[in-house]
Amino acid sequence: MAKYTGAVCKLCRREGEKLYLKGSRCYSNKCSFDRRPYVPGEHGQGRQKVSEYGSQLREKQKVRRIYGIMEKQFHNYFQKAETLPGVTGENFLQLLERRLDNVVFRLGFASSRSEARQFVLHGHILVNGSKVDIPSYQIEVDDVISVKDSSRKTNRFKEVFEYNSDLATQEWLSTDLEKAEGSVVALPEREDIDYPVEEHLIVEYYSR
Ligand code: SF4
Repeated sequence: MAKYTGAVCKLCRREGEKLYLKGSRCYSNKCSFDRRPYVPGEHGQGRQKVSEYGSQLREKQKVRRIYGIMEKQFHNYFQKAETLPGVTGENFLQLLERRLDNVVFRLGFASSRSEARQFVLHGHILVNGSKVDIPSYQIEVDDVISVKDSSRKTNRFKEVFEYNSDLATQEWLSTDLEKAEGSVVALPEREDIDYPVEEHLIVEYYSR
């Protein structure tokens, strides 16, 4: 499946809920979903009848879009989750949350996951003092994630740190925006997933 290059706000309207893909814009009155909370297109405001398969597909697409991952890689996470001990759906969400780009976003070093991915790809992010430019890198407990010295002084990082100064960090992470540094206190648990998701639908989708 090709990378989606269209307007990201359409994705929220397609999934019928805010996916928070555009940072500060999502919390402003410019949010497209707040203004037009229906599916784009000619029949978007009509009554939508969704089949069992349709609801499984939509849940899968929603989560894939939240993390901005291509279908093949997303499916790979599911296959890996199946091989781990425990509940497949929870393992799956944990693998997604442990991605470095997600952790950079959760720590408040970026305004969105897509911006976090750019920061990682452009070499601004260090893990335990070494540059890691792989957005899918899986963090471990006690990892220390920081913004490179020369990068943290740039206007973009200063803006982001200021914007996120009141951000409530997740319980499994600890962050210090003054030092542009954070650490992984524990691996994320199911209750740390802070958006509505019915992962059993995704499990059913891939188990068809
Ligand atoms: Fe979605 Fe954010 Fe666009 Fe609103 S502004 S539609 S939450 S991406």
